[in-house]
Amino acid sequence: MTTFTWEGADVTIKVDHEKCTGSGECVASCPSEVYELQDEKSVPVNINECIECCTCVEVCPENAIIHSSCE
Ligand code: SF4
Ligand code: SF4
Repeated sequence: MTTFTWEGADVTIKVDHEKCTGSGECVASCPSEVYELQDEKSVPVNINECIECCTCVEVCPENAIIHSSCE
């Protein structure tokens, strides 16, 4: 199992760390700076800052991010 789940107050974000290449689009494009790379994998460390814009899901070239507000 390589998909990790983070539960925030309002949203749930899953990132498949097998798919994630550490390309950084999610880090760069999230307006709330939710993500950071840890060992070249995306982690939504500031999940409670999420404004549910769905940009991270749209920009990920690997479709590695599943967001509870963006399905
Ligand atoms: S955009 Fe996708 S592949 Fe790139 S770091 Fe973020 S989750 Fe990983
Ligand atoms: S939905 Fe928008 S605010 Fe929330 S983590 Fe993704 S890019 Fe950031």
